[in-house]
Order: sequence, then structure tokens, then C-alpha cells
Amino acid sequence: MEILYSSTRGGSERLTASQAILQGLAEDGGLFVPDHIPAMDVSIEALCMMEYPDVAYEVMKLLLTDYTEEELRHCIEQAYDDKFDTEEIAPLREAGGAYYLELFHGATIAFKDMALSILPHLMTTAAKKNGLTEEIVILTATSGDTGKAALAGFADVPGTRICVFYPKHGVSAIQERQMVTQTGENTRVIGIEGNFDDAQTGVKRLFTDAQLRREMKEQGFVFSSANSINIGRLVPQIVYYFYAYTRLLADGCLENGDLINIVVPTGNFGNILAAWYAKQMGLPVKTFLCASNENKVLYDFFETSVYDRNREFILTKSPSMDILVSSNLERLLYHAAEGDTACVSGLMAGLSGEGRYEITPEMKARMKDFRAGYAGEDQCETTIYYLYRDFGYFIDPHTSVGASVYTAYRQATRDETPTVIASTASPYKFLRSVMTAIGEPVAEDEDDFALADRFSQLSGIPVPEAVRSLQDAEIRHDIVVPVDGMEQCVRDFLQR
Ligand SMILES: *Cc1c(COP(=O)(O)O)cnc(C)c1O
Repeated sequence: MEILYSSTRGGSERLTASQAILQGLAEDGGLFVPDHIPAMDVSIEALCMMEYPDVAYEVMKLLLTDYTEEELRHCIEQAYDDKFDTEEIAPLREAGGAYYLELFHGATIAFKDMALSILPHLMTTAAKKNGLTEEIVILTATSGDTGKAALAGFADVPGTRICVFYPKHGVSAIQERQMVTQTGENTRVIGIEGNFDDAQTGVKRLFTDAQLRREMKEQGFVFSSANSINIGRLVPQIVYYFYAYTRLLADGCLENGDLINIVVPTGNFGNILAAWYAKQMGLPVKTFLCASNENKVLYDFFETSVYDRNREFILTKSPSMDILVSSNLERLLYHAAEGDTACVSGLMAGLSGEGRYEITPEMKARMKDFRAGYAGEDQCETTIYYLYRDFGYFIDPHTSVGASVYTAYRQATRDETPTVIASTASPYKFLRSVMTAIGEPVAEDEDDFALADRFSQLSGIPVPEAVRSLQDAEIRHDIVVPVDGMEQCVRDFLQR
């Protein structure tokens, strides 16, 4: 059955999947949601026999219904190939009584590659399907990982340009270097004097600026988004939760139908929402554990039913989760309000006005599958250390937020349900933090590449190409602007 997408805030648009992917954000500023959530129509046993690309097809075809089989399979084939350093694409590793779903084996060594290696293909296919004549301009705000993954995906893709905004002082050294060395005639990377929320709000404003849109359209451009507000990001992320379950089953860790828990180190709420969609499609999940760092706005929300962004923004060692406005939560609100778009609009008006809102007890009850926790910096460091010392397994600081929250949850609840922890970045991406945590001295001025070699010897994990290739790469982007300079940057970039 065809699935159409409409806004969480009630606008009258009803778009096909490919149209929603092209547009990114609804005209009223809301997020696109499917008019119903389809049930998985292939048995888990059948999925067990499949490799990642085939599981991807079975999941994605249910939500992206206007793509033909040929189109979708082609997109998948282009995405999940040898850009990944393992044929499994998303391997599952057991350590310390949990299963780590390693989502960082793609080109930029963070989980964003799982969706951003396919999004450009979904988008260019969508452009063809819909007879789009304009050039697609991807505007993206990044807390560090999305930017590079999107740049890598869209670089030199005909018919597209991409402009990435990142917080100049809010990303790791490797993250920044990955972005500012990006090649491709159609790419632009801009640092802003602000934090990730400023960047994200700025990009949303550009999207909903009707005047700017009109002018750009006259010049032959149309905006879209590679952020996780785009359903073309969300849908590919559902795949790996089904895949993880099939691996557990294949390895004899589960009986078919057994429930699992899923732990996700969370920022913008995209990854964990994808897991929740997987459950609505039939994946047997008991609890979703939403793990935050010290920016624990989501933890407070799940505890109190009040979302309140009025607080200090803390820079942590898990920068990709330094977020106070978790955009994708709006989709969960929509489902928890049973599609009451007036209710969602009201809550979002509260968020942009007073910076807070409160949900009703009925909505809260419909989120009963979620538990939340947060972990401080010391705790995350200790967790990295113990996993290394006791199990010889290395995790990055983001994954450690998930692992730390899970450890506390398990101790408190004695819940022994088999648990999958989303492992969202390679330790190589945040080496200074990882090396310090495992007790290896790191000099302030030690070169990142020397550090990588040292870690490689110690861990036996080869230095990924994503790091190695940065060593001699030329810096190609050096623009830094205040937040209110973003619009001008876009205009400059789009000079014909
Ligand atoms: C983006 C990111 C997260 C947060 O994911 P959301 O989908 O925004 O919740 C966690 N860890 C890493 C390494 C990331 O890049």
C-alpha cells in the first residue's frame, strides 16, 4: 500500500516518499511522518538468511513505496559497497555482557555513514522521478559527524551542491580536519561562531524563508536537507536494528520472538527514533534506553514530561551529542499524540517561544517503552577504561555514554534482556579522549597521526583510511562567520 508523508504540524501537503526526501522539511516547519507505519512482511527467519543490502531492501521498500524495486536496489548497491571496510556493513560484537552494533565502518567512521551513503542516491533518483529541473542545494547543520558524512556522500554528485555549517569551537580536531579538507567543486564548509543548536536553528530558518526560497528558485536552485529531519535519513537507519536482531538469532544468542533492549547514545533523537519505528514494524523490542551526556535535556524530559531547553549548553567529549533541541523528538510527539497535529504545533510553539513545553499524561503513557539515563564525563572515561582492561574492547566517547547508562540501568533494574548498544563512532575519531581514558599519556602537541599509529599498535586495529588520508590533505575551506551571516554565505555560494 502506498505511504504518503505529511507534516507533524498539520500542513495540508501529502507527499510521496521521494517528494518528501527532496523537500526535507515540511513547508510549515514540521517534519514529515508516514500516514501509517507498515508491518514487516518478511519473516525474521527469512531476514536471517540475507546479507545487509537485502535486509535494507526489505525494510526500505515498505516505507519508500514510490521507488521501484530497480531504483531502490540500485541506490542500496551504490551505498553499501566497499566504502565500508567490512562486508557485514554493521557488525555486532559482544563485550562485557552487551552487544555492540558497530555502525562506524563507513567512509567517515561514524554512524552517519549508514544513512548518508545512501541519501544522495535516494535524492538524485527522486529528482529524476519527479522531473525536477532545479539544482538541489543541501543545507546542513552538523555537530561534527553529519557534515563530513554528507559532504562525502554529495561531493561531485551531478545536479547537487552542498553547504555545511559547523560550530567552529564545538567539534573534535579530526572532525574539523575531515570537513575543511573536503574536495568536490560543489561543496562549501563554513564554521559559525555559535553552538550546534545555533547552526541547526539557522538552517531551519533558511529553509522556511519563503522570500529566499523564491529567489533561489528563480535562479534554478531548490533547498533540501541531509539532517536527520529528512525521512531519507531516518528510513535507512531502521534497517540495522532488524539486521542486528538477525545476527543475534543466527549466532544463537536468542530464540525467534525473544525481546531485546536497545541502547542509543542520543543527540538529535534520530537514531533512537529509527529503532522505535523498527519496533512499530514488528521488531521484538522491550525497552529503548535513551542515553544522554551532560546535556541531559532528554533525560529530564522522560523523567518529568517537561522539555526545557533553558539551560547551559555544555561542551563535552561526546560533541556529536551536545544538543539541546532534539529535532526528531517532534516525530515521537506526533505519534504519542496519535496524530494530533494541533497539539504538536502547540508544543513546538512553546519550544520556540519560551523554550519549553510539557506533554500530557496520555502522551507520556504512549512513550512507556522509553527509559532514559545520562552519564557524566568521568563515568564515560571509566567505562572506556574497563571495557579495554577487562575485555580488550575499545569504544569511543559517544558509545561510552550508551555503555555507561546501560551499566547503571542494568544494575538498578536487574534487567537481563539481551541488549544491543548502538556504537556510533570509531575510537579513531576521538582518539585523544580514548587514549587518555585508557591511561595512555597524550602530549598537548602530539600529532593526531602519531597518536593514531600509537593506538593502532596498542589495539591491533589498523588505522582507517578516513584518518590516514587526512594527513596530507589540503585545507580547502576556511570561512568562519557569526550566526547571522549564514544567509549571506548561502547567497555567495549560489552565485551563478
Ligand atoms: C550523531 C551522533 C550521535 C547522535 O545521534 P542522533 O541520531 O542525533 O541522536 C551519537 N553519536 C555519534 C558519534 C554521532 O555522530
